[in-house]
Parts: sequence; structure tokens; C-alpha cells
Amino acid sequence: MKEKLSKIMDEALSQIEASGELEKLNDIRVAFLGKKGELTSVLKGMKDVAPEDRPKVGQLVNEARTKIEAKLEEKKETFEKKLLEEKLKSETIDVTLPGKKLSQGHRHPNTITLEEVEDIFVGMGYQVVEGPEVEYDYYNFEALNIPANHPAKDEQDTFYITKDILLRSQTSSVQVHEMEKGKLPIRMIAPGRVFRSDEVDATHSPTFHQVEGLVIDKNITFADLKGTLQEFAVRLFGEGTKVKFRPHHFQFTEPSAEMDVTCFKCGGKGCRFCKGSGWVEILGCGMVHPHVLEMSGIDPEKYTGFAFGIGLERIALFNYEIDDMRLLYENDTRFLKQF
Ligand SMILES: [Zn+2]
Repeated sequence: MKEKLSKIMDEALSQIEASGELEKLNDIRVAFLGKKGELTSVLKGMKDVAPEDRPKVGQLVNEARTKIEAKLEEKKETFEKKLLEEKLKSETIDVTLPGKKLSQGHRHPNTITLEEVEDIFVGMGYQVVEGPEVEYDYYNFEALNIPANHPAKDEQDTFYITKDILLRSQTSSVQVHEMEKGKLPIRMIAPGRVFRSDEVDATHSPTFHQVEGLVIDKNITFADLKGTLQEFAVRLFGEGTKVKFRPHHFQFTEPSAEMDVTCFKCGGKGCRFCKGSGWVEILGCGMVHPHVLEMSGIDPEKYTGFAFGIGLERIALFNYEIDDMRLLYENDTRFLKQF
């Protein structure tokens, strides 16, 4: 019996020693110490041992078990240590390697220009209001005095989603939403993206940005319009900028005008940029048509107002002397980084 035990123990110890991986140790544990293991089977054979020898055999079995368990534990620790070392080795960070370069973005000339424009008007007490890009035909045309089948609609042909829903061709639609709220007076600008079915070229794009402004209060006159827009032009283009108003026609204003500013490149002397005239056109404006006020529930006998619309890209192109509008939409950082 003693010999048998000793043989089992030796076998177990040598198997443990020879095992090459952590998982193997468990198999050995089960094979020798498990319920059906070899050592356990010795205990089961105790009935064949003379009663006086039983305590001795029991003691030997326990000693063998303790030794095997100790050896298993020792081997297990060796494996774990080795695994940890390998893990540390494979996960070492080489701090001398160059880092990943993060390419930094740049504010778009449109954004810079919009912020300048917003700052000027917010400084004059205007609110910045936004509205939906997908709009009802009513807000984009009808409520602005452009009824269905009116030829003025052709000039702003846009993208229709259904017969009544379209991509807005002007941010004036936001003004209608604001007027309908019925909170007067109104001093607002509405910057945003607009859509027209234009072919792409150096001065046209099917999508561009507008900043439209609206003021409605008692006793607002054309003098307020002129004073406001002159102040805007001076703040945007610098001291000494002069403005000139030319009569024009818009459906939603009466009277209407286009505003020119003295060419900021030549100061009004005439150059290639202003085609020799000394002036450049920068916006359209006018007194809000009484019918437009009426349609939005404002009494034109009590209230008057003026409106204006600026093409944001146009201002950005002038400001930075960019000669092709397409450059603004390509998002090439080599271009954007210059501003
Ligand atoms: Zn000029």
C-alpha cells in the first residue's frame, strides 16, 4: 500500500513538473485528487486494509495529497508569473515612437464672416433667429407676396419635395414665422442655408447662405433702413465706406432698393475688381410691403418695417478677395487655413 501511494505521488509530481501550460494542471488535479482520482481510489480501498493499519494509511494518503497540492500550487504560480511577464513584455509602450499627428481643422471663411455680421447686428439690438430649411411653399413664396404662378417664382426656382413642400430659396421664410408669432416690435436677422436650382459655376451654387434682416415697429421709415445699413457697411468694411441705394423691385418690399458700397479694394476710384465703377453691390432691401404685414396678421396702419437680404458668400468672397465661389465648398484645408 505504501509503495502504491509512493508510486502515485511520484507519478503526479512528475506529471505536474512536465506540464507545459496552466490548463493542464487542472486535468492533473482531477486525475489524482478528484472524486474518481487515483488517490481517492486508494482511500476507497481502505476496507481491505487491516483495521490497525488504517490510521497509518490514512495519514500517508493525506501527506501525499498535501504534497501534490503544494506542488500544483507552486507550478501554478510559476505559470502565472510567466504569463504576466509575457503580457508586460508584449504591452510595453515605446515612448520614443513619434505620436499620431492630429490634423487640426480651421474655421470656414463663411463662418468667420457670419460671426462678424452677427456681431454687428447683435450690437444694434437684433436677435438671431433660425428656421427650417425644408419649408412650406406658403412661407417661402405666398406669404412673401409671391402667389402661385407668379413669374417672380421662376427667378428662385428651387427643389420641391412635394407640390407644397420645398427646400427654402430664401431665409425670408423665417421672417414670416417670426411675424406670425405676433410679438412686436421685431428686430431680427435670420442667417441660414438656402437652395436654388442653379448650375455650379464661379458665382453660383445650388446651395448657399443668406442673412436676412427684418425690423418692424411703429414709425419705422426708409431713413431707419438707410441709417442701419450704412452703419452696417462701415462696421463691416471699415471707416470711410460710402453706400448708394439704387431703386429695384422685390415682391415683398415697396419701395425696394439694392445697396452698393464703395469698392473696398480701390476706395471708389475704379479697378478691375469693381469693373471700373468704384462700387460693388452687396445687398437688397426695402420697406416691408403692407400686404406682407397684413398676411401675417400685423396692422399696416399701425406698424411699418424694413427688410434686407445679404448673400453671405458674396461678403466672404469680397472680404477675402476670393474669385471663385466653388473654393468655399470644397473644404480643402490648404485653402481654409489661409483665413
Ligand atoms: Zn474697385
